[in-house]
Amino acid sequence: MRDMCKWYPVCPMKTFYERGDLPAHWIERYCWGDWRRCVRYQMEEAGTPHPDHMLPDGRMDQTMH
Ligand code: SF4
Repeated sequence: MRDMCKWYPVCPMKTFYERGDLPAHWIERYCWGDWRRCVRYQMEEAGTPHPDHMLPDGRMDQTMH
């Protein structure tokens, strides 16, 4: 079984990906891959608020909403 980020079912990146607004490479690299390196994951774990349009590498993509 694939080691997937525990936040994936509720993560906005999943929604953007399924809508076709986020390229699959983000999901493959982070959510289904090295999710420990995801800035969103790290901020979730720390309880730090972060906007929905923040990418796994911490950059903002204002086109996603
Ligand atoms: S974007 Fe980050 S927090 Fe969201 S599901 Fe992917 S790895 Fe997890």
